[in-house]
Amino acid sequence: MSKDKKRIVVAGGGAAGMCAAVCAARSGAEVTVLEKNNILGKKLSMTGNGRCNLTNLKIDDSFYNAASRARMKTWLEKFGPLDTIEFFRSLGIVTMSEEGYVYPVSEQAISVVKALENELIRLGVSVVYNSQLKSIEHKDATYSVKTSEGLYECDKVIIATGSLSGAKTTMSTGDGYYICKKLGMNVKDTFPALVGFKTADEDIMPAAGVRSNAEISFYLGEELLTSEKGEVQLLSDGISGIPVMQASRDIIRLVSENKLVYALLDLYPEYDEDSFDRLINEMLRLRDNRSIVELLSGFGNSNINEMILKRMKLSPTMKVSNISESMLRCIFENYRKLKFNIKECSGYLQSQVTTGGISLGDINDDFSFEKDDGIYVIGELVDVDGRCGGYNLQFAWTSGYIAGNAAAI
Ligand SMILES: Cc1cc2nc3c(=O)[nH]c(=O)nc-3n(C[C@H](O)[C@H](O)[C@H](O)COP(=O)(O)OP(=O)(O)OC[C@H]3O[C@@H](n4cnc5c(N)ncnc54)[C@H](O)[C@@H]3O)c2cc1C
Repeated sequence: MSKDKKRIVVAGGGAAGMCAAVCAARSGAEVTVLEKNNILGKKLSMTGNGRCNLTNLKIDDSFYNAASRARMKTWLEKFGPLDTIEFFRSLGIVTMSEEGYVYPVSEQAISVVKALENELIRLGVSVVYNSQLKSIEHKDATYSVKTSEGLYECDKVIIATGSLSGAKTTMSTGDGYYICKKLGMNVKDTFPALVGFKTADEDIMPAAGVRSNAEISFYLGEELLTSEKGEVQLLSDGISGIPVMQASRDIIRLVSENKLVYALLDLYPEYDEDSFDRLINEMLRLRDNRSIVELLSGFGNSNINEMILKRMKLSPTMKVSNISESMLRCIFENYRKLKFNIKECSGYLQSQVTTGGISLGDINDDFSFEKDDGIYVIGELVDVDGRCGGYNLQFAWTSGYIAGNAAAI
């Protein structure tokens, strides 16, 4: 073995860790991956509803929460979506794009995990399973990496232990935050993100299970916090769906501080004020002997209609002719401003990512620790989180590629 060959330990065999290990080994390093689970890439195998949304062709730094947008831009320029597609092509993974969202043509996330795993084997990377990183000690020119099953000596360490988000089975327990803190890094407060919310509204039950293309806007008092369009899902105790998850990144801190955040759901997002007003006037012309539930049956989903009538304390069988015009207007306007009072988020277990983490202020451009540049921190552990749509995996590949190559030098 060449004297210059770097011995690198990668703690965490998820998306970022496997990418870093492949890149470091391709650059000639001797790499060992320590993985707490008994398999590699458990969370990766669950991504994109099992299809793995690898990256997104519509990308720039604005898709991320990062303390430095300029650095995010530079990182994406170093290794962006096209590089990701080429990287996976080199592993035998052919990709396809659906309006910019990139998936493997197999539409199976497990094929992505297996391709990375096979490349690690081909490159002679040693993978140790059931090995939980406990601590890292800098000894002279080397590092002593302590795990649940033994000690590893190396020249560089890459910490890629992920976040707190995802199902229990992914073992996402956030070990890295504690370990990095002990090494002297600043850890920004963490919160679940890309997550749904529980609401304080007890009358939501009849609408449970409804999915509707809508616009959802979140407010604190009169202030509009954020707005998203897409398929909103109503649950028995809350709201979810992609638009709610996207918005969660902007409101999670306020919700955690118990601020009175509320959401207004617009079920007629394609209508402007005038056209919706005309629509209401047309509906008012149908004010005859039919019941209110009959009138609403063509206006909204029956479960939502039931919820709105319950909320307005109106009997579904009430004759429309017995309801005043102003009251009818009020009923219709609910379809533009259906209010939900946000109680709390659905928690780390239900979240796709964690916002917060290792401060960018402690990390050099190659993802090494500013105070000890033989230690690298990558992936979701870092205080960077992206929108839903392939952006978080892209950051895992980007940080893995940059750190893996830098560590091997
Ligand atoms: C259900 C779900 C679906 C998602 N879908 C998408 C998607 O389609 N597109 C997208 O861009 N993003 C998606 N994400 C987010 C994406 O999966 C993560 O951002 C990404 O996996 C982060 O990569 P990572 O390597 O930093 O962490 P992880 O992939 O979580 O990997 C961390 C690894 O470290 C191991 N580990 C933890 N602690 C230790 C320790 N002490 N010692 C050793 N090993 C340890 C873990 O077992 C794990 O294997 C999804 C997330 C979830 C939960």
